[in-house]
Amino acid sequence: MIQTVLGEISKDELGIVIPHEHILVGFIEDGKMTRDDYDRGEVIRIMLPYLMQLAAAGCRTLTECTPEFFGRAPYLLAELSELSGLHIITNTGYYQKPYLAPFVYETSSEDLARIWIKEALEGIESSGIKPGFIKIALSNTNGGISPVQQTILKAALLTSRETGLPIQAHTIGGETVMHALEFLARDNFEPSRFIWVHADSEPDLTYHKKAALAGMWIEIDSIGYRPFEEHYAMLEKLIGMGLLNRLLISQDAGWYCVGEKNGGNIKPFTTILEGFVPFLREKGIAQSIIEQLMIANPANALENRKDRL
Ligand SMILES: [Zn+2]
Repeated sequence: MIQTVLGEISKDELGIVIPHEHILVGFIEDGKMTRDDYDRGEVIRIMLPYLMQLAAAGCRTLTECTPEFFGRAPYLLAELSELSGLHIITNTGYYQKPYLAPFVYETSSEDLARIWIKEALEGIESSGIKPGFIKIALSNTNGGISPVQQTILKAALLTSRETGLPIQAHTIGGETVMHALEFLARDNFEPSRFIWVHADSEPDLTYHKKAALAGMWIEIDSIGYRPFEEHYAMLEKLIGMGLLNRLLISQDAGWYCVGEKNGGNIKPFTTILEGFVPFLREKGIAQSIIEQLMIANPANALENRKDRL
């Protein structure tokens, strides 16, 4: 089962998935952004064509990774899902300093988890719209995870255990992901419920190998920000290490940026389907591998396994 903004769907209905994208982001600090900071009608007018273009390219599901206090917008996403016909998945969880409300710094993991579990069970605020995953960030200080992000990580583990939702964790660098693995091990938490977001930020693939062999998902999610050749080389090496069944690809594209005229400079969501996939085919990558990266793997990563336990 997968929870979308319009309700539950089965794993087989996901189709082609881009697991890490943004429709709306607001770089407003300390949890101060409200829905009055942007015009929902304008966001829809500007973002809908990008989503229609994505649907026309064959994608079925977009996972929207903007957390609360950073522009999470459940009503907007539900409306865009209806209008575009795409499945859209939103999240619970919190991002990182300075995009946290002041109370987060003074709240325990248990109490943060209580807020997120409530959203997973009852919906976000009074919308009835439920999250399909947990989005957090593990900002680091000298390779280690900073204290407030440790609290957030522990809250994510508690929430995942209780709800079955997978975790997408913004994690820059291999040392930070190794630190996260220690937390998972201490908690006896299943690493296959954890997605290493921005894994392509780390060039040393020994970290990816360790994380993937432990069971983590390795998300190569800035496709389009660098020459295709670089991402292809990284994927080819990881596949060569036998890690195909741990890999996810996405673009971290979009988004309507709150406060900028017409949402600023928006990156389309079709770079992978219209550019990178043809590039992979030219390199001789088999269709079955492309389908595993874009259909089977994200379905396995995002599936809520609670109902199977
Ligand atoms: Zn992102």
